[in-house]
Amino acid sequence: MIQLNNVSKRYPGGYDALREVSFNVAEGEMLFLTGHSGAGKSTLLRLLTLIERPTRGQILVQKKNLERLPRRQVPYYRRELGVVFQDNKLLADRSVFDNVALPLVASGVPPREIPKRVRAALELVGLLTKEKLLPAVMSGGEQQRVGIARAVVNRPPLLLADEPTGNLDMQLSDSIFDLFHGFNQHGITVLIATHDLRQIQRLGKRVLTLKDGELVRDSGSA
Ligand code: ADP
Repeated sequence: MIQLNNVSKRYPGGYDALREVSFNVAEGEMLFLTGHSGAGKSTLLRLLTLIERPTRGQILVQKKNLERLPRRQVPYYRRELGVVFQDNKLLADRSVFDNVALPLVASGVPPREIPKRVRAALELVGLLTKEKLLPAVMSGGEQQRVGIARAVVNRPPLLLADEPTGNLDMQLSDSIFDLFHGFNQHGITVLIATHDLRQIQRLGKRVLTLKDGELVRDSGSA
């Protein structure tokens, strides 16, 4: 599903955020990416989402070599990824329904299909009754679940999350990680960047550890 071969990323200014990182992720795997703040976790996710390009090395996602992906293919590539951010990135002036519908609208799903798909995603995260609300009136945990519904509404084979519970308390974090685990049990490949060691221990999945841009530990390779 994901293959990194000797990937390095040097930001303008000369900082090496990733150094010669290599690993494989099998289809259907769930794994954590951890490491101290500044270790390179977000950079790695930004390479997978094509927000940034590597300075050296090769990245394959679903057998596609990202380096060779023509620019016009990038939006199609991104549609096959679900991405969850720490700060959820919801549109404040749109309802829960409209926020979750966005990826469907962007990918040209016929309008009559949209309500069914949005509600199926909201049901998965337990928010079926809240579709008319604006994000601002919801709790942090609920807002994050809206972000997760938006990430899975297109039924992506790969779900990436960057510190998805960074702003949540322990109990809410459990429920969010349980949601990711549930998606994984339904066959979605899940990669979560987090420094929440409690969740990592609780779920007992493979762990990749970055330190100063180097992959210093891989608890089990695909
Ligand atoms: P993490 O997600 O593990 O906290 P990041 O990938 O965000 O780590 O950052 C890794 C390093 O790269 C940090 O030292 C950070 O300051 C640097 N960095 C991140 N983004 C940029 C950028 N756009 N330009 C320059 N340096 C950056």
